[in-house]
Amino acid sequence: MKVYFIGAGPGDPDLLTVKAANMLKECKICIYAGSLVSPDIISLINSDARKYDSAKMSLDETTEITQQANEDAIDVIRLHTGDPSIYGAISEQMNRFDKLDIEYEVVPGVSSFQAAAAALNAELTCPEVSQTVILTRTSGRTPMPDHQDIVTLAQSRSTLCLFLSIHKIGEVAKQLDKYYGQDCPVAVVYHASWPDQIIIKATIKDIESKIKDSGITKTAMVIVGRALDKPETESKLYDSHFTHGYRKGSSK
Ligand code: SAH
Repeated sequence: MKVYFIGAGPGDPDLLTVKAANMLKECKICIYAGSLVSPDIISLINSDARKYDSAKMSLDETTEITQQANEDAIDVIRLHTGDPSIYGAISEQMNRFDKLDIEYEVVPGVSSFQAAAAALNAELTCPEVSQTVILTRTSGRTPMPDHQDIVTLAQSRSTLCLFLSIHKIGEVAKQLDKYYGQDCPVAVVYHASWPDQIIIKATIKDIESKIKDSGITKTAMVIVGRALDKPETESKLYDSHFTHGYRKGSSK
């Protein structure tokens, strides 16, 4: 018996890995994060499987179901949105399973920050502008650890991908202003890859009012940084004067 933590991807079933899609088709017990996993993906779970929506359950309850499945020697699929390694709360489950001697394995998924970047046709890294991408969030009921608050991170001027933060967009914009500047691009993608996806492009100056007008309050990715401007700097990799292992320099 094994627990499979599966990444459901951002929403579009075509963005599931082949492995995940096959496992959903075959599974017998599935505990899914109903508040975030798209209905299109939930509909792919074997119709004969026992399904549990973890949004309505505690860790004790999901552990109990898994423990019973272990006794019955039936594999369990634990379906998480995006990639399970990011805000997936999988470590706490693994800690329980370690104590219970239950085996587990992770099947990665496309994260929402990647789906949002794709929706924007954006490259998050750009030569001479941003060579670092930070995946972070603002504090909510979960406080930010020391030295990881958004103002500290902002000093690097990296591209920021903010999860779980859309409801605090005004506060975030104010905090980023000093390091990124009022005209720095901010993009918000609501329900990236879902049929009702919405894209809002703005700057630090006007993002708060644009989001207020849009009515978006959750399930959105916020991306901030000058890489979104598509600056004209070109990478060395494709520069004709730059040689590397796969290409000799041009004679021009
Ligand atoms: N493991 C997930 C993140 C879970 S935390 C992943 O890798 O994407 C939940 C947050 O992820 C949401 O508040 C939102 O910020 C973001 N999110 C999840 N799905 C999204 C989607 N389809 N579009 C935009 N943001 C999404």
